[in-house]
Amino acid sequence: MSLKTRNALITGSTSGIGLAIARALATEGVNVTLNGFGDAGEIEATRAAIEKDFGVKARYSGADMSKPDQIAAMVSEAESAFGTLDILVNNAGIQHVSPIENFPIDKWDQIIAINLSSVFHASRAAIPGMKTRKWGRIINTASAHSLVASPFKSAYVSAKHGVAGFTKTAGLELATFGITVNCISPGYVWTPLVEKQIPDTMKARNLTKEQVINDVLLTAQPTKQFVTVDQVAAFAIFLCSDAASQMTGSNYSMDGGWTAA
Ligand code: NAD
Repeated sequence: MSLKTRNALITGSTSGIGLAIARALATEGVNVTLNGFGDAGEIEATRAAIEKDFGVKARYSGADMSKPDQIAAMVSEAESAFGTLDILVNNAGIQHVSPIENFPIDKWDQIIAINLSSVFHASRAAIPGMKTRKWGRIINTASAHSLVASPFKSAYVSAKHGVAGFTKTAGLELATFGITVNCISPGYVWTPLVEKQIPDTMKARNLTKEQVINDVLLTAQPTKQFVTVDQVAAFAIFLCSDAASQMTGSNYSMDGGWTAA
């Protein structure tokens, strides 16, 4: 069945994985509500390009995913603007790296709010409409860090393990309503953010680009290759399809073998 009649909201979709998922959904004919931070002109250009390139409607919400009232309003506005909200992709996320004893308390609170609690708040607001219509897809961008830990990433690892737990619970609660809830757990994803780190690391450590990629960035990833945003997006589209209607409450790794070790 085509996704053409569907409407989606993707949090944290002004760049990286979220933007790739938004564009992939638009390719399938889905109207999209974008969300995230960034330069207003660039965001408007991104929104307009989606409408022009894919012939769908695209709107933007600047809601802050650390603010429950803004999240509820974003979901409600997305639903009323397009008539339904069928696909919710909870993707917004941030990182902070620090030993636990020095971890800034406000950073801990912010990461738990954006990476974990926003998944609850957005789902809570989107579920009633999905239940009424007996169809829905909730896709959460978790991480390899929903399954394994790394030192100095206590808040991120805690939040992502929480996302995996929430996904299981929601999958069970919604199983008889035609709503599936899953998470995708990427390893290291090739984003502009990662790409920009490479030249500085080459200089700082006197390494070649290949050495930085293999020995610094991809030590944990057995394939020694990055996941691409388009690979994550392609799997998200599959999870929206009828072929995936029996896949729910699950955590799908896309990590070059990282969590097999
Ligand atoms: P990114 O920095 O390119 O994108 C993050 C998005 O979240 C941006 O659109 C940003 O504006 C938005 N955002 C941040 N704080 C927000 C807030 N308070 N309210 C609303 N939007 C906010 O990063 P990405 O790599 O595309 O990450 C997307 C998701 O994928 C995150 O949840 C991240 O944890 C997860 N992830 C990333 C990787 C990776 O290697 N890049 C690996 C595994 C999981």
